[in-house]
Amino acid sequence: MNDTPSAHRPSSSQPPANESECAVDVVIVGGGPSGCGAGISTARYGLETLVFDRGNASLRQCAYLENFLGFPGGIDVPTFYDLMHDHVSSAGGEVIADRVCDVTAIDSGFRVDTDDDRTITAPFVVATSSYDGGYLRGLDDDTELFETHCHDGETHEHFDSEYVREQGRTPIDGLYVAGGLAGHGEQALIAAGHGMTVGRALLEDVRRADGWWDEVAPHYDWRRRTESFQHDFDDTEALHELFDATRLPDDHNIDDSVHERVRATAIELFTNSHIDRDTVDQRIAEGYDRLVAQLDQSQLLERIDDDVIERYVRESDQ
Ligand SMILES: Cc1cc2nc3c(=O)[nH]c(=O)nc-3n(C[C@H](O)[C@H](O)[C@H](O)COP(=O)(O)OP(=O)(O)OC[C@H]3O[C@@H](n4cnc5c(N)ncnc54)[C@H](O)[C@@H]3O)c2cc1C
Repeated sequence: MNDTPSAHRPSSSQPPANESECAVDVVIVGGGPSGCGAGISTARYGLETLVFDRGNASLRQCAYLENFLGFPGGIDVPTFYDLMHDHVSSAGGEVIADRVCDVTAIDSGFRVDTDDDRTITAPFVVATSSYDGGYLRGLDDDTELFETHCHDGETHEHFDSEYVREQGRTPIDGLYVAGGLAGHGEQALIAAGHGMTVGRALLEDVRRADGWWDEVAPHYDWRRRTESFQHDFDDTEALHELFDATRLPDDHNIDDSVHERVRATAIELFTNSHIDRDTVDQRIAEGYDRLVAQLDQSQLLERIDDDVIERYVRESDQ
């Protein structure tokens, strides 16, 4: 369901273990609520996104998740994990069951090493592994990155959430922190929302680095009804006028080529964010398919009225 212009689309697929090196746009460490919230943002925008998920998890300790929005009867944690990970995949990202053990700074951003001998390079890393920040050691002074405290006579060291700035940014260019690790892990929904906030901050930084200005830098991942737009999507001149009237500051000194490039991409994103009734119907069907695929089939059948099943079988036979 990704309508991002081709310039932002991912170009390569999941690296197998032992492949010497692979480059992506974003590596997310942790596939819990915050990591998946961040991953859905960046992948849907078209940044090539890998989510690594293995190791100590907060949510996996929850007996049964009863207060996540949208599940009025609650949901068991393994099914919730399957749904989150499938959502990252449907957004265009990849979830890999592997543990990140080291992140090092390199000229182009970061080199990420995993327990299963994967090596990935990426300009952006989002750390969302609520309890484990040890792989960040060496990126800055230890006294800045970590705090120590005594518990039962033993000294423990933890990533210091005060290292994190607003919207998950950090003093290190390209490094972001979300969810429990950033001090936003009180509830799963809060962590997921923070993850998406951090993903959006990353996208805003990518756009600003590309010349996008205040009025256009934040990205809104919205789906709009085609019929709600009063203009003709094929009338390029009218769309240019509309953009310049609403998104260009009065006394700007934006370079012409930057103006034209940003305008073209922004209009393409805006156009693609509109979907017509047929597409909505198609996506509703695909949404059900995807949801049902993650649910236990026999549990589902048990809950459907026998008469409904009988009628369905009879009509299918006919
Ligand atoms: C006992 C318990 C019960 C809870 N019950 C509820 C509840 O009922 N409702 C509620 O809203 N919240 C509950 N919470 C809180 C909830 O779990 C957190 O708010 C939420 O999980 C935080 O999300 P997160 O993504 O930041 O971290 P996590 O959920 O911890 O996810 C981090 C992910 O990163 C992975 N990981 C860790 N290290 C690495 C590494 N080095 N490389 C790759 N991956 C790594 C882990 O496997 C994990 O999947 C509970 C917490 C606990 C401890």
